[in-house]
Amino acid sequence: MRGKDAIQMKIQAMCQRVEQLQQAGLYYYNLPATEILPGARVMVHGREMAMFASYSYLGLLGHPRINAAAKAAIDTYGTGTHGVRTLAGSLQLHEELEEKIATFKGTERAVTYSSGYVTNLTVISSLVGRRDFVFCDKLNHASIVDGCMLSGARFVRFRHNDMQDLEARLASVPSESAKLVVVDAVFSMDGDIIDLPGLSALCRRNGAWLMVDEAHSLGVLGRTGSGIEEHFGLHGVIDIQMGTLSKTIPSIGGYLAGSADLITYLRHASRAYIFSAALPPAQAAAALEALRVIEDEGWRVEMVQRNARRFIDGLRARGFDTMQTETAIVPVLCGADELAFGLTRAAQEQGLFVLPVISPAVPEGLARLRATVTAAHAPETIDRAIDVLETAARQVGILAG
Ligand code: PMP
Repeated sequence: MRGKDAIQMKIQAMCQRVEQLQQAGLYYYNLPATEILPGARVMVHGREMAMFASYSYLGLLGHPRINAAAKAAIDTYGTGTHGVRTLAGSLQLHEELEEKIATFKGTERAVTYSSGYVTNLTVISSLVGRRDFVFCDKLNHASIVDGCMLSGARFVRFRHNDMQDLEARLASVPSESAKLVVVDAVFSMDGDIIDLPGLSALCRRNGAWLMVDEAHSLGVLGRTGSGIEEHFGLHGVIDIQMGTLSKTIPSIGGYLAGSADLITYLRHASRAYIFSAALPPAQAAAALEALRVIEDEGWRVEMVQRNARRFIDGLRARGFDTMQTETAIVPVLCGADELAFGLTRAAQEQGLFVLPVISPAVPEGLARLRATVTAAHAPETIDRAIDVLETAARQVGILAG
C-alpha cells in the first residue's frame, strides 16, 4: 500500500506544479501550433508568431522536395513496415538512407533507429556494461545519461568541457578497463561547442572510445554542415558519431555512424534495432531527401551560421548575457525562474515564439530563454527579435531602464 501511495504522491506533486503555473498564466509548454508557415513563422492560438524555438536549423521543414519524397514513399511502400529490420522490416530505402548518412558523415557505415533518444539508450548500453566505465560531461543531454544508467557501467561525470578534469578522472580508473567517453558536440541548453581537439587527444592517450552526439551540430557546424569534425578540421577522430533525424533533418529517427565493424555489431547486438520496428517509409524518404537538399543548397549552412552570429552579436551589444554560445542555440540568461517566465510572456505578447528553460533542466538561478535561429530567418526578422527581447527585458527588469 505504501508503494502505491508513493507513486500517487509523485503524480500529484507534478500535477499541482503544472496547475499552479497554468493558473498563474505561466505555463508555456505543449502549445499546439495549428499551422507551420514559411519563413520560420507559426500559427499559435490563432496568432501568427515569429518562430525562435525551432530545431529546423536549416529551415527544411516543409521543403517541397522533402514533402514530395515522403508522399512518394507512402505510395510505394505504405505507411509502415512489416516489423523489425532484422526480420521483414528492412526496405531498400533504409539502406539508401544509411549509405547517404555514412557518406555525409565521412564514415564507413551508418545505422538508423526510431528516435535520437532511443539511439543513445541502445548504443551506449550495448557497448558498455557492468565492469566498464563511462565518462559524461555534466551538461550532456538526458538521453545520454539514461543510456549510461541503462548500461550498468560505472558512471563518471566530469566538469563541463573541462579536459583537465576528464584527464584526472580517466587516470583514476584501472588502465585495463574499457572506457567510453560520451559528449554532446553542441550543448543543448547552452549552445557551446565541445573542445574536440583536446578531447580526442585525451581519449587517444588514455585508450578510451569517443562517442559524440551531433543533435545540434549536424547542418550547423562545418562548411558543408557535416558537423563537428568538419568544424575543427579533424577528420576521423570520433569513433562513434550519433545524431538525430528530427532537427536539421525534418523527420524522425536517430542514426549512428562509424566503422563497418561497429555498425555490424550494432545491427546484431543493439536491442532497439532487434526488438523495435523500422523507421516508417515516409520518414526515411524525408530524411534521405533532406540530406540531398543540404548538399544541393549549400547556402543554407552558411545562412544559419551567419544568422547565429547576427543574433548573438546583436543581443550582446544590447547587454544580454548569452553565455558561451557560438551556435544556433542562443541562451538569454535571466536568473530566477520568474524572470524567465516574465521575459517569455512579454516576448510572446509581441509575437515572438520563445520558451523558458528553468530548473531542474538547468541549474537553479540560471533560468533562461533558449532561443534558436535558423536559415529560414531573414536578417530583418532577427533584428526585430532582438528589439522585442530588449523591450521585454526592460519591462521585466532583466536589463536596466
Ligand atoms: N541528443 C540531444 C543532444 C538532443 O537535444 C535530443 C533532443 N532534444 C536528443 C538527443 C534526442 O533526439 P530525438 O528528439 O530524435 O529523440
